[in-house]
Amino acid sequence: RPGVTLAVRLPTPNRISTLPKVCRRYLNEDVRITRTGKPILTVSGGRSSLGGYTATVFGATGFLGRYIVNRLARSGCTVVVPFREEMAKRHLKVAGDLGRIVFLEMDLRNTQSIEESVRHSDIVYNLIGRDYPTKNFDLEDVHMEGTERIAEAVAKYDIDRYVHVSSYNADSSSSSEFYRTKGRGEELAREIYPETTIVRPAPMFGHEDRLLNTLAGVSNVITSNYMQERFWPVHAIDVGMALEKMLHDDTTAAETYELYGPTNYSMKEISELVDGEIHKHRRHVNIPPRVMKPLAKYLNSYLWWPTTSTAQVEREFIDQVIDPKAKTFKDLDIEPIELKSMTYEYLKGYRSAQYYDLPPMTEREKKEEKKYLHVID
Ligand code: NDP
Repeated sequence: RPGVTLAVRLPTPNRISTLPKVCRRYLNEDVRITRTGKPILTVSGGRSSLGGYTATVFGATGFLGRYIVNRLARSGCTVVVPFREEMAKRHLKVAGDLGRIVFLEMDLRNTQSIEESVRHSDIVYNLIGRDYPTKNFDLEDVHMEGTERIAEAVAKYDIDRYVHVSSYNADSSSSSEFYRTKGRGEELAREIYPETTIVRPAPMFGHEDRLLNTLAGVSNVITSNYMQERFWPVHAIDVGMALEKMLHDDTTAAETYELYGPTNYSMKEISELVDGEIHKHRRHVNIPPRVMKPLAKYLNSYLWWPTTSTAQVEREFIDQVIDPKAKTFKDLDIEPIELKSMTYEYLKGYRSAQYYDLPPMTEREKKEEKKYLHVID
């Protein structure tokens, strides 16, 4: 039946019974049946496990991509990584055993390349997204037309599962162009492939994020809303874990998930947390939106590296709203990690050299106002 995963335990093959007992304990074989009735053999055995599934991850070269590619590849799934830029995909090659990662060149406007990327897969993840328009792709091209082409390819080859990564606040009637195009993208995906699983992550933090790294970076932080926007930051690794669980649980098909962290922060509060962690004060400049929007448009169209965009200025004025009907981490049995518990890990590179050899201050030390000492010499 669609939506039901069957797990059948196979008798241990003769070949295995000749191996020493210690190996048999770890070789665990299962056969699962996908929605379309395809049997998937899985064998657990460390880095050389056989995950059985073939997964395509669009947008794998971005920040979140590595956390799902790595999880799939190390459990032995074959991961197809459609890419645009040779250098952007290199780090993914070592995410799994030799041959587990298959790279395919793809263009979002080339339907043939999209179809080639999906047609051998059991699940397709679409992580493609952009915060700002570029000279070749505006937000509609990426979030709507791109989604449409991918969903059509998924439907054409009757792929078992399609997981579409959208965004928090995605809403086709939003005043922000980013949220509006993301919301419309969700609708298109569901129209074309009704069993689409929609994932709406909150702003994510992690090693390569654009949240903590921007606040801790040396350049002034320019905003238009005095950092008043509120949201529930989520750990990228938790989102990767949730995406992997969706592969193994067919009841997640046709559901919408809001993936957010345990605590609501304003951007200002996170900025103070970052300053405290790196022992530096980063300057924050506020430019009103009536000046910032045309400036952002100008910068975005004339500078060739990512700066800001009108879409990003608009988003500063919209707090994160959680859809009460959507499922969450709880439904996937995942306890999301608190931002505060990870800031030291992700920000230690920004600390002054004076502090590099010491752990963060404990609560007791903070109360006693104990000062850090340089203990090397
Ligand atoms: P990144 O910006 O780091 O990565 C985006 C990915 O999309 C990259 O692999 C990029 O490819 C690809 N991409 C963008 N435009 C195109 C295009 N025109 N054609 C082909 N590929 C394209 O995003 P994240 O990993 O941070 O986020 C993943 C998803 O989650 C995105 O959809 C994002 O909108 C969404 N999201 C992210 C949040 C966050 O805090 N990071 C919060 C909420 C939602 P390439 O490397 O070739 O440029």
